[in-house]
Amino acid sequence: MKRRDLIKYLSVAPLAGGLTGVPLNPANAASSLVKRDLIKELGLRTFINAYGVYTTHTASLMADEVLEAINSVSRKYVLYNDLQDKVGEKIAAMCHAEAAMVTSGCWSALVLGTAGILTGMDKTKVARLPDVADFERNEVILQKTHSGSYDHALTNTGIKRVFVETVEEYERAINSKTAMTWFYNEAAPWGKIGHDEWLSISKKHKIPAMVDIAADVPPVENLWKFNDMGYDVVCVSGGKAIRGPQSAGILMGRKEIIAAARLSAPPGGGNIGRGMKVNKEEVFGMYAALDRFINLDQGKEWKMWEDRANVILKAVTKVKGVKAEIFVPPIANVTPTLRISWDQTLIKLSTKDMTLNLRNGEPSIEAPKSINDAMILSVWMMQAGEEKIVAKRFTEELIKASV
Ligand SMILES: *Cc1c(COP(=O)(O)O)cnc(C)c1O
Repeated sequence: MKRRDLIKYLSVAPLAGGLTGVPLNPANAASSLVKRDLIKELGLRTFINAYGVYTTHTASLMADEVLEAINSVSRKYVLYNDLQDKVGEKIAAMCHAEAAMVTSGCWSALVLGTAGILTGMDKTKVARLPDVADFERNEVILQKTHSGSYDHALTNTGIKRVFVETVEEYERAINSKTAMTWFYNEAAPWGKIGHDEWLSISKKHKIPAMVDIAADVPPVENLWKFNDMGYDVVCVSGGKAIRGPQSAGILMGRKEIIAAARLSAPPGGGNIGRGMKVNKEEVFGMYAALDRFINLDQGKEWKMWEDRANVILKAVTKVKGVKAEIFVPPIANVTPTLRISWDQTLIKLSTKDMTLNLRNGEPSIEAPKSINDAMILSVWMMQAGEEKIVAKRFTEELIKASV
């Protein structure tokens, strides 16, 4: 290698220490990565998140406590099963459940919880999933209105979904093949059967009931509400409002179901969950995130979100023809949210173009696609002070397009 090339190589070599055999000091490694600016190096765009907690937008930013937890344990070994035992005990106690485990997102909580119900502690059954054709029980009942996205997770176990609409259909659908019933909390308003009725029928027939509350905190009480209500299994995302690792989640509920679910999960192989690994750092990170979230001053958080929303509302409504209001979605992403619309004869800018202009501006701002000619802005995943930038950029675009 010519000297010139070597210098060039050294300047881009990912682990310079590796060349000389000198072990890298982890602290230096971290700081040299910061200096390198990986986002720039890879040509990526960062943005102010006015979008909310969505996987496409990398959901939430891990809280400092979570990053500290991840760093503090990353240079030590522990036995994986011991870690899940201990963290599970803590999470269960925090959420009024008998037992809990950290999963690879809420999605894998749905898969593993179902697997646990199907197999119990029978290891030959665990090895046979998703081939459940001759299992005694291999059907899951849910409301038709609750289907369409996340219920797909359940089918990874091989079960057949049975859809019902009315209480009569529900009662009729329960038979000796019914393994579980499933409720999608966010869809509660769209179905004919509410939680109480749904659960009481499950209980009457001694069928375990699972609920998906992935994105349904805040309110923080939802973390224990559904356990208290009597659901046998509850599934939550760790990387949304809780601001844990994006790929972590929680499965909690009855002790024997969680124990059985773990048979289908890492560290063991020969099971359907082997690809749903959660690394040690994320298990610790999930615990730290939950602990932080439960102990947060929720009133203060709420006030902070409201203040942010008001900063934007006040700025944009100064422009003639603009209407804005703060509303709180009744279920899922329950936080102060902005709805902004404008008279398109006074301001010649479609909501679609506003979204694009915000994205292409400096700094870039990501906002969701408009609904009914109104833009919905989420403020809770912004970082401190960013609401002022959003207020300024939004207002600039409105003024620019005013006739
Ligand atoms: C986000 C979400 C999931 C999936 O959760 P992950 O944590 O991303 O795996 C499942 N169900 C619902 C209702 C969700 O909103």
